[in-house]
Amino acid sequence: MSDIPFDNKVSLTIEFIRKLYNTDKEFIALHEPKFIGNEKKYVNDAIDSTFVSSVGKYVDLFEKNFAQYVGAKNAVATVNGTAALHTSLIISGVQNGTEVITQPLTFIATCNAISYTGATPVFVDVDRDTLGLSPDSLEEFLREHAKIGADGFTYNKTTNKKISACVPMHTFGHPVKIDRLVEICARFNIPMIEDAAESLGSYYNGQHTGTFGDIGTFSFNGNKVLTTGGGGMIVTNDEKIARLAKHITTTARIPHPYEIAHDMVGYNYRMPNLNAALGCAQLQSLDKVLDSKKMITAEYRQFFKNIGFTFIEEPGNSRSNFWLNAIQLENIHERDTFLAATNQAGVMTRPIWKLMTELEMYKNCFCGDLSNAKWLEERVVNLPSSSLLKKQSNT
Ligand SMILES: *Cc1c(COP(=O)(O)O)cnc(C)c1O
Repeated sequence: MSDIPFDNKVSLTIEFIRKLYNTDKEFIALHEPKFIGNEKKYVNDAIDSTFVSSVGKYVDLFEKNFAQYVGAKNAVATVNGTAALHTSLIISGVQNGTEVITQPLTFIATCNAISYTGATPVFVDVDRDTLGLSPDSLEEFLREHAKIGADGFTYNKTTNKKISACVPMHTFGHPVKIDRLVEICARFNIPMIEDAAESLGSYYNGQHTGTFGDIGTFSFNGNKVLTTGGGGMIVTNDEKIARLAKHITTTARIPHPYEIAHDMVGYNYRMPNLNAALGCAQLQSLDKVLDSKKMITAEYRQFFKNIGFTFIEEPGNSRSNFWLNAIQLENIHERDTFLAATNQAGVMTRPIWKLMTELEMYKNCFCGDLSNAKWLEERVVNLPSSSLLKKQSNT
């Protein structure tokens, strides 16, 4: 069937997705939140308790249960994933005038958080199989451009700026080759923050993403696999980092029964109790959501094999949450035709992000060769990927 004309493949894809989601809705979204469990019960309970804001039992409970789910020693909840990243960068020592290595294919939040610190992102290429930061490219970049300073830290030979952190991102839930990245960063004394915003429920060699680096961050925005409306999480196995994260995200207030004093510039980044109540309920349903998404992925895999489109698979040694399923078209022309036809038919599809280096703010940033990122940018398209779960009327 792979010799069927391109336009027919696109029509078949639209028909297939409409049937898969079996909905009367005009428009099939990319990723919808599902509230199938105790969400209303817990949120109502938080309201009844009057503790809806910065104090309450659900924040502690959500942090404890989340840490357990991903297998990290500590978790600190934040108002969103960007705030989790920003806080983690500050804790890692990222400062004004330094550089942070990341990938050019990512959601803007990664670079926004870097910019908030006054640091500049430096872009290193991705691998075609993981869609995330490439260990080979990172190694080559550092060999070519880095020098170790007298203080034992790594500096960019050209700009003389300190390379103060590295932030790989697990694109669409597909784990990067994180073990090799960790090894390289350790060798160059570069702290690592994993942007695991998209990869809750994804594992590399059986270990949950976000737990390999010094710090990992997650997002609970409405389009992620677990939502708190808006929210984020910092995870770490280092107790000191966790304590500092809690301190910075709660205005750096010195604990005291009634006096109000602060010992550094802090942020109001704490997750409100109301959102954490939602998170506690969402965490209980997470495995069901992931199982349902796995079925969707299996359906897509078979269908695209039949019609001859390249489905983006989970990389080696990994279990992906397939947050957003994706295909890889032959070229930018095919991509644009596919995007126009599907969206016009009410089936939401999206191109992968524009490279960060193509945005006004980052077009002059230092970067390595980005040919894989460019290649993927012109071909990769996301497909509707919501779970098929529905709330039972008796719950
Ligand atoms: C969603 C997301 C974030 C965080 O976004 P928030 O909306 O601030 O929670 C960060 N990085 C990536 C790659 C994301 O997809």
